[in-house]
Amino acid sequence: MYNLKVVIIGAGIGGLTAGIALRQAGYEVEIYDRVKELRPAGAGISLWSNGVKVLNRLGLGEKMAAIGGLMDRMQYLTLKGDVLSDIDLHPLVEEVGQRPYPVARTDLQQMLLEAYPGEVKLEHKCIAVEQDENSVTAIFENGHRTTGDLLIAADGVRSLLRTYVLGQEVQPNYGHYVNWNGLVPASEDLAAKNSWVIFVGEHKRASMMPVAGDRFYFFFDVPLPKGTVSSPENYRAELTEHFQGWAQPVQNLIQRLDPYKTNRLEIHDVGPIDRMVRGRVALLGDAAHATCPDLGQGGCQAMEDGLVLTQYLLTTNISMEYALKRYEADRKERTSAVVEKARKRAEMIHGKEPEITQKWYQQLAQEEPADVRGAIAKVILAGPLR
Ligand code: FAD
Repeated sequence: MYNLKVVIIGAGIGGLTAGIALRQAGYEVEIYDRVKELRPAGAGISLWSNGVKVLNRLGLGEKMAAIGGLMDRMQYLTLKGDVLSDIDLHPLVEEVGQRPYPVARTDLQQMLLEAYPGEVKLEHKCIAVEQDENSVTAIFENGHRTTGDLLIAADGVRSLLRTYVLGQEVQPNYGHYVNWNGLVPASEDLAAKNSWVIFVGEHKRASMMPVAGDRFYFFFDVPLPKGTVSSPENYRAELTEHFQGWAQPVQNLIQRLDPYKTNRLEIHDVGPIDRMVRGRVALLGDAAHATCPDLGQGGCQAMEDGLVLTQYLLTTNISMEYALKRYEADRKERTSAVVEKARKRAEMIHGKEPEITQKWYQQLAQEEPADVRGAIAKVILAGPLR
């Protein structure tokens, strides 16, 4: 397709990646976000090799490598600190053709913003869309309107435009656990600087992984009912109580984190949903398929969406409708499988059925590293870039 104008609502990982891909394809792009200042939600993110490959394709591989942490091993430990499994990730990298990179979200966002050759229009909250046979118009709360050929709704887990595309409201599902995350200076008394460590027990997790700048991205997960509230001055006490009796590195981490720079959130996912496209409006990223972070794939899927959509637009000359139909078919299949797999994993990790979680703890000690790597490679290699 030639000479398209694409309007993107949302400048998260999904909207920005799509914007970069579409601009590189020669399309006119406008990106809008409702916020006054773009700040990433969360401290870090682990980009598995399928996400990194999208960035490679967009010419950002070297920049990604500069901000990514070097994660050579993956280690599961009991809450007391006994090693359950220690997995060398090099064979995985050999198999899938690209390293995974844990990364600080501010670094990733900065890189994407620098790579997008335009300006993101802030303080533009999209409140409605209108479309006819020839065009689509986004309408903003501040009275602005913009018309294009295609509108990408990358407006996140609480997407307003998802309701428009589906014709009904689909509420995010609560994943039944709370996540705290942040960054701390890397230190050997927390974890080895080349390892992703995950302490597991009591249906909870405490984890650290290296990111650039000699820092660890950390997170804690605790199953809790929906609606618990807290504030930064309570985070340390809260975590101390939840992780009482856990290994020394976990205690060190709780003491060392800055509660005022720590995020606390309830985890939600979305879908699988029936459709991703209505006419000239296409859902992308969390708006269509927010995913429990238990596979580390939500952001990677948003990146894949942007690339696949751009490729279909570029490679067909029949109609945009054709490209969108192919996009929807491909991405619905891929992302539904990931959402469901991640939800199942979240339930297993966080004790939905306690005996299954116990079995998983035992399995971790017995599993062959090759099997663990194989399972990760399968998810990566089911993506569009093999
Ligand atoms: P978002 O990043 O939510 O962006 C949506 C944007 O739309 C926002 O900027 C918002 O301001 C804007 N917006 C919303 N409504 C409007 C409107 N009406 N008008 C204008 N703008 C609007 N993924 C991984 O791949 N690996 C991981 O390790 C990983 N870890 C995670 C850990 C946690 C704790 C969580 C919560 C998620 C994790 N994810 C991970 C998932 C990943 O963060 C998301 O999938 C990804 O950020 C989604 O990007 P997005 O662009 O679709 O949405």
